[in-house]
Amino acid sequence: MQKTHHWSLNTMSARPLVAGNWKMNGNPQSVEEFRKMAEGYTPELAAKVELLICPPAVFLAQLANENSISVGAQNCHSAVSGAHTGDISAEMIKSVGGTAVIVGHSERREGYGETDADVAAKAEAAWRAGITAVVCIGESLEQREAGETIAVVTEQITKSLPDATTSENTVVAYEPIWAIGTGKTPTAQDVADVHKALRDSLVERFGEDGSKIRLLYGGSVKPSNADELLNLANVNGALVGGASLKADDFLGIAGAYLNF
Ligand code: PEP
Repeated sequence: MQKTHHWSLNTMSARPLVAGNWKMNGNPQSVEEFRKMAEGYTPELAAKVELLICPPAVFLAQLANENSISVGAQNCHSAVSGAHTGDISAEMIKSVGGTAVIVGHSERREGYGETDADVAAKAEAAWRAGITAVVCIGESLEQREAGETIAVVTEQITKSLPDATTSENTVVAYEPIWAIGTGKTPTAQDVADVHKALRDSLVERFGEDGSKIRLLYGGSVKPSNADELLNLANVNGALVGGASLKADDFLGIAGAYLNF
């Protein structure tokens, strides 16, 4: 289960990604925490892992281009512009310096009824604007207990990723819904099994490039479990919620890459 390389194939050249999702948390003073993260993001660490922070959209412009940590949004509309009150487009994210957008987070799927087709349209919007789509998938507790995890996430990854998906324009985050914000995580073996199934599905559909698409694990990642979870085969980084709000925690997770 443990791997000797970060990537499933030695052809994988991109660094792993640790992405932080601040959700609806933060304020203008959060830039200080963001600066602390950058202070701890040493050249040694940057050589091993890419960092991305996704603050609430109103803080994007303030944080983008502030330091060596990339900044992205937590959602976008699929259209370029128009009568969509309260929404923002991928082009707007790009225009203020955002380089990525999370699409299909379970809190969007559950809270706003976003479907796989909606998520795929948002991924295409991200590419249209020239930013990376971080596409989230994951099973519910009910589905996990019914033994449906692999079937559910395989269907989600198939339907949520458009045909033009590449390792350059897309990152996939596997996040079991029951592990988000709960302190619970699947066993390392369970994570490895799901990531293996997702990798197989990506390679089957996208060929060799499918072996390079970064597959993040998300759900209660913290410094104390990062070593175990991030060193698994086919786990190419993490999507982090709660622990991305504090520089020490976020850097503690990213710092796992110094140990491998
Ligand atoms: C998330 O919401 O993407 C997430 C993984 O949250 P947490 O790390 O708090 O479980």
